[in-house]
Amino acid sequence: MAYDRENIFAKILRGEIPCEIVYEDDHVLAFEDINPQAPVHVLIIPKGAYQNMTEFGRKASAEEKTAFIEAIGTVVNLKRIDKTGYRTIVNNGEDSLQEVPHLHVHVLGGRRLGALLST
Ligand code: AMP
Repeated sequence: MAYDRENIFAKILRGEIPCEIVYEDDHVLAFEDINPQAPVHVLIIPKGAYQNMTEFGRKASAEEKTAFIEAIGTVVNLKRIDKTGYRTIVNNGEDSLQEVPHLHVHVLGGRRLGALLST
């Protein structure tokens, strides 16, 4: 399936929809999740048009991949959850219930998180 240029994160990247930016560089944007599931809930997205981790792994440049991974450490430091711990989640496709078809990693922390999977 082709990348949907009208998905909500594509609109955020184009500046058509506002977001609360946590961190940004040439390849990555990190912003507050609109419906936080923990005291810290940040979404990190690549600026390139990748639907999920599979596509990112296959098509992104080494520079984009490095920036994406390094952004996780940057965000947890900015949010001061590097010592208390945090969870990263990437939903990919239908069975994962991925809602927005632009790759994003959820960074969750700020409290003791529950079990990895509820069902
Ligand atoms: P997923 O189910 O992994 O695709 O997660 C999508 C996430 O995007 C959810 O946690 C939503 O709360 C979040 N979300 C949807 N729209 C926005 C928005 N406009 N700004 C920030 N977060 C959003």
